[in-house]
Amino acid sequence: MSGNASFEGSSFEGSYGGDASRLQDDSILECKICWYRYQPEQGDDVWQIEPGTPFSQLPEHWRCPQCDGAKNQFMVVR
Ligand SMILES: [Zn+2]
Repeated sequence: MSGNASFEGSSFEGSYGGDASRLQDDSILECKICWYRYQPEQGDDVWQIEPGTPFSQLPEHWRCPQCDGAKNQFMVVR
């Protein structure tokens, strides 16, 4: 370990650039497996996500309600 503790430098693979902090609060993301679209203004009944919840605020365990694809399978539509 080098002691480099920069959170801002942390990166992870993801179709939305791997950086959720770059998403807009009203960004719509689309599952690249089944084309399900997550729309923040609608939330998600399956996971009991409140309407108005940005994609970047979804819990880590959130998965595509249609195909169970992982969060990082999603691509930014807008
Ligand atoms: Zn899906």
